Amino acid sequence: MPTKNKTLEENMLGANGMLAKSLEALRSASERLNIHPDVFEELKWPRETLAATLLIRMDDGSRRAFKSWRCRYNDRRGPTKGGVRFHPNVSLDEIETLSFWMTFKCAVANLPFGGGKGGVCVDTKALSANELERLSRAYIEAFAPFIGPDRDILAPDMYTNGIVIAWMADEYSSISGQASPSAITGKPLAFGGTNGRVDATARGGYYTLRHLETSLALNPESATVAIQGFGNVGYYCAKLLHADGYKIIAISDSGGGIYDKSGLDPLAVMQHKHETGGVKGAKGQGKTNEITNAELLELECDVLVPAALERQITLDNCDKINARIILEMANGPVSPEADRKLSAAGQIIVPDILANSGGVTVSHLEWVQNRSGFYWDSSRVRDHLKKTMETETQAIWALHNEMDLSMRDAAYTHGLRRIAESVEARGTPA
Ligand code: GLU
Repeated sequence: MPTKNKTLEENMLGANGMLAKSLEALRSASERLNIHPDVFEELKWPRETLAATLLIRMDDGSRRAFKSWRCRYNDRRGPTKGGVRFHPNVSLDEIETLSFWMTFKCAVANLPFGGGKGGVCVDTKALSANELERLSRAYIEAFAPFIGPDRDILAPDMYTNGIVIAWMADEYSSISGQASPSAITGKPLAFGGTNGRVDATARGGYYTLRHLETSLALNPESATVAIQGFGNVGYYCAKLLHADGYKIIAISDSGGGIYDKSGLDPLAVMQHKHETGGVKGAKGQGKTNEITNAELLELECDVLVPAALERQITLDNCDKINARIILEMANGPVSPEADRKLSAAGQIIVPDILANSGGVTVSHLEWVQNRSGFYWDSSRVRDHLKKTMETETQAIWALHNEMDLSMRDAAYTHGLRRIAESVEARGTPA
């Protein structure tokens, strides 16, 4: 039990736990809004987390064990919602932190969802397609009682694409004995998916950035962009911004990156990645140099887009960040300490819980369509996404100015206000 003479962090998973550190944003927003202490008390730990070891028969006949988790952080605004991550470094602390961020992301986007997340500790590149299918189905088997359309709704995340999601959705329907498409979003179109989900995360960030163009004095004709991560989010971000005239000067993936001050064509870079397995070696419009991921982050540019893993910008490298604006398309790419330093120095960080909320916003539309059985066309999905992103971006930008807050603090304040209302609406002691 937490004791009075110990700080919240000391009572958590150790002072270095990512969740403990991330809670700082909640603590300061709670103080700022002067919310009922019950709200803070309930949000400082996840509501429930389940762990399971998945035992998979490999193609060579051997058996392997994979650690996995599913966390439902908070469900006051509705069923918990969030992706499933397949990555070798997945840990309990990471999943719980990501669930905490999902709780705020869903509130910022004004969705009727709480936050959740899941993950499996696995390197998918080392598995065959059959092994990956067995693992995906085993994950659902292990967590089936935990999930459901009104309880906990799954979605894609790193290394869980439409194929993995389809296996999971199929397994869930088999176990529940009926078609249950709304328990998992991000499904292929032919299996109850929605138009516009594939590029939704990137498109949401793109709408946010475009909406802030005047406020941030960004001119698409001359603005330069560096993108770390060239998976679904990084690629579509690059593509959308490039089409509007932004100059993409650097792109990287886990194998390293390329830099060309004359500009890169994201489609050509993706073509190269398809052919060779990575972006390294792709050619831009001028002289293209190879760079490391660390060097990419330090480039002079107008917009830096971290679209890979957490904690890429920390106290160790934040003094070397030369971007004017950081658009957080990954979850948690800037550590809280680095965020404070960069914001104090006047750099604008568009926080993850706003910038990448387009994915879950369109996931919500998929859930709505699955439940109503009526499917929308792409333009209706895009219009809804654009309107949502612009409304919430505007509200957060206004709070940032009116209360003199960093954009992250403004976003947490905005989200917490909504969560607190839902908690208090159920009745708190007078
Ligand atoms: N994994 C994505 C995220 O971190 C999408 C979640 C969802 O669609 O539920 O926002």
